[in-house]
Amino acid sequence: LSQLFRPLDMLGWVYRTIRQGVIDMGSMFDLIDTHAEIVDAPDAQPLAVGQGHVRFENVEFGYDPDRQILKGIDLDIPAGSTVAVVGPSGAGKSTLARLMYRFYDVTGGRITIDGQDIRDVTQSSLRAAIGIVPQDTVLFNDTIGYNIAYGREGATPDEVASAARGAAIAGFIQSLPEGFDARVGERGLKLSGGEKQRVAIARTLVKNPPILILDEATSALDSRTEADIQATLEAIERGRTTIVIAHRLSTVVHADRIIVLEAGRVAEHGTHAALLRQGGIYAEMWARQAQEREAGDELAAE
Ligand code: ADP
Ligand code: MG
Repeated sequence: LSQLFRPLDMLGWVYRTIRQGVIDMGSMFDLIDTHAEIVDAPDAQPLAVGQGHVRFENVEFGYDPDRQILKGIDLDIPAGSTVAVVGPSGAGKSTLARLMYRFYDVTGGRITIDGQDIRDVTQSSLRAAIGIVPQDTVLFNDTIGYNIAYGREGATPDEVASAARGAAIAGFIQSLPEGFDARVGERGLKLSGGEKQRVAIARTLVKNPPILILDEATSALDSRTEADIQATLEAIERGRTTIVIAHRLSTVVHADRIIVLEAGRVAEHGTHAALLRQGGIYAEMWARQAQEREAGDELAAE
């Protein structure tokens, strides 16, 4: 592909597609190799996915050498369990997700899946095992059906339709004259942030990965749609190792364990109940958000 596009054309293309928000970030990285520094080890083997036990061992990372973002993160995420990561914006939550997907390599420590350092396995096998619903979904300039089916090669129309139902976007698609063949992006339909997020959730349902990362996956949804999708998300988390990054704490109460990340360190961890008892940062965040919810309910009742 690099032979087809001259670098300057490519830059222009990347700029336009990012601006229009119509291309999937993962595929963009695949296409243009912006992360050329991430290469498979010469003897890289396919990831042998067992139960999906994920570990961060003393992980250090900074985008720039002079600014450390993650400062010695230890996380043990038992196979099939759900860990929630909460904390202020800029704490490094999305960075954890990017490191797992290997958009970047750790600068210290290691990340393992079922005992294998993710730097020792092929990137394609790693990324096949992980589904990410990112914070800001960008879609292909193609049909809505294509955008969902992209989750897995060979997905059938039935699987696509059932994923759309699971992500609470089937009704919206039915309301379109062209249904699943409606084009999105540039010359097609402009989807709202919430609709794009639901397409991303549907795509992940089609992919059906053993490891799931939800990075503020419902942040663009109003609280009613969020409640609709919450049950679906909790259902797809079952039986998979899941990392839920969340802003709204009401979406993580069910997690097996909650990690409070602050300035690149694990400040607190425990279950929802234990963290409330502890009366620290999490308890304070919870109290603040409960007040906001009440204020919102009163407004809605007027
Ligand atoms: P969170 O998801 O918790 O809000 P992020 O993991 O996105 O936080 O970011 C953590 C820190 O890393 C922030 O200070 C952010 O500005 C910085 N950062 C994020 N992405 C980049 C990047 N590509 N280059 C340089 N700094 C970045
Ligand atoms: Mg983030």
